[in-house]
Amino acid sequence: MWITAELLAFAAIAWVTLWRLDDWREWALCAEADPDAFFPEKGESTRAAKNICRRCLVKVECLRSALANDERFGVWGGLSDRERRRLRRMSSESPATCTDPT
Ligand code: SF4
Repeated sequence: MWITAELLAFAAIAWVTLWRLDDWREWALCAEADPDAFFPEKGESTRAAKNICRRCLVKVECLRSALANDERFGVWGGLSDRERRRLRRMSSESPATCTDPT
């Protein structure tokens, strides 16, 4: 019987956690950081922003959103615009999406 109660408690915690992560922006660490760090001028370092992203709980959700919305500027999900373009190019060239030339 105690297993059932523990499972119910676990399910409730998991549901609440997933529900809260659904609105991932509420958990964004950058919300309290200097926005200029996330949108550096050309040639400026992205290190400060990436150091914040590294500790962010919603890094995956943020990156997913940036890719889905084709964000062209700034650091999102710990990646610069250039790194996101490279990731997008690599995923479009992956064997799973390539057609077989033979
Ligand atoms: S991963 Fe970086 S840019 Fe995205 S929400 Fe977190 S701190 Fe902000």
